[in-house]
Amino acid sequence: MSDETEKLEEAAEESKKKLGSPIVTDQKTLSSLWFDQRELNVRYLVSVEKIKKFYEGISAGKVMATKCAKCGEIYFPPQSYCSKCGSDSMDWIELSGTGELLTYTVINVKPQSFSHYPDYVVGIARMPQGVNVLAWIDGDTGKLKVGMKVRLEVKKRDPEGYLTYWIKPE
Ligand SMILES: [Zn+2]
Repeated sequence: MSDETEKLEEAAEESKKKLGSPIVTDQKTLSSLWFDQRELNVRYLVSVEKIKKFYEGISAGKVMATKCAKCGEIYFPPQSYCSKCGSDSMDWIELSGTGELLTYTVINVKPQSFSHYPDYVVGIARMPQGVNVLAWIDGDTGKLKVGMKVRLEVKKRDPEGYLTYWIKPE
């Protein structure tokens, strides 16, 4: 357990004695936070059978989306069925080329399952294929600007050590 978590736990115990509820103060923003008493530790298995091509693409350094063969709607993350027209006939397309950074934010208050990462930056890129991609941003995040040119890249994310897609400024 980190020092920070231990401090929060102590503060939550104090608060339970005083207020009856585990309310702690966020040291950065001084706002009140509910400190949940349950620890969440989830390791899950989820079927990716219908989007296996996505992982084959990642393995080859490509970011793949699905496109409805009937109405042309593009889905990312890929879906195996079109929620617009109901068709389950989907084609695979690669999201490539130069996109535009629509927005980004630095995450310094992290969800517990991401608490082992240093502060990271998440952004949304509009790709030339006409679809938005939400992803972590790689590279020099100090020079980010809304509207700048970006591309997608496939790179390992540590400490998990698996390949994933990132937004990379050009
Ligand atoms: Zn469709």
